[in-house]
Amino acid sequence: MSEAKKRKKIIRLCIEMNDTGLNQGTSGNISAVHKGNMLITPSGIPYEEMHPDQIARMPLASDSDEWEGPCKPSSEWHFHRAILNSNPGFGSVVHTHSAFSTILSICGLDIPACHYMIAAFGGNSVRCADYQTFGTPELTDSILKAMKDRSACLMGNHGMVVAGKNLDKAMWAAVELETLSMQYYHAKMLGGMKLLADDEMDRVVEKFKSYGLQVNKDAG
Ligand code: 13P
Ligand code: ZN
Repeated sequence: MSEAKKRKKIIRLCIEMNDTGLNQGTSGNISAVHKGNMLITPSGIPYEEMHPDQIARMPLASDSDEWEGPCKPSSEWHFHRAILNSNPGFGSVVHTHSAFSTILSICGLDIPACHYMIAAFGGNSVRCADYQTFGTPELTDSILKAMKDRSACLMGNHGMVVAGKNLDKAMWAAVELETLSMQYYHAKMLGGMKLLADDEMDRVVEKFKSYGLQVNKDAG
C-alpha cells in the first residue's frame, strides 16, 4: 500500500473508531510502519478535521523526537515507536480510551483466561501496565513490560493499546480487546467465573498462529 493510501486509511480508521464508540473525542491515536518510518496521527486534532498531510512521519530507527510534517505527532509517539520496534511482526499500533478497557485499567486489573479469545493476544492473560504520565518514556517502559510476549495491554488509569501486523489487524485486535474487557467486566459482576486452564490456552495460542485470512500479506 502506498504512503498516501496508508495516511488516508489511518484517518478513516480513527473516524470509524469514534463512530463505533470504541473511542471518543481526540483521545487515542494510530500509527503504521511505512518503509522504515512510522506514520502517526498528529496530536489533539479532531479526526473529522484531520488531513492526510497532517499525519506525522518519524524514522523508526531513531532516538530523537524529530518528525516530518506540519503538525506535532501524537503525544504518545514514544510508546508507538517503541512497540513497533519491539517486534518485527508489528506493523501498526492502535491506542484507545475505550470504555470497558479503561474501567478495568482504572481498577488495575489484568484480564485472565476468561475466554479463549484472550489467546489472540499471545498468552493466558492481557496484563494491565502500571500507571505512568501520558507521553513519557516511563509510560513506554511500563507498557513494554506488560506487553512481554503479548500484542496488547491495558494501561493503568488510562486505556488500552494493541499492536498488529497491519492497520486492519491492529483495529481488529482493538475491537476484540474491548469486547473481552466488556465480557470480563460483566462476568466479574455476575460472579462464579470459570477460567480456562493454561494448557488449553497454550493450544489456542498455537491455533491462532494460523487463524484468519492468510493471503493478504501486503495489506496494511
Ligand atoms: P494525542 O492527541 O496527543 O494523540 O493524545 C491522545 C491520547 O490518548 C494521549 O494518551
Ligand atoms: Zn491516551
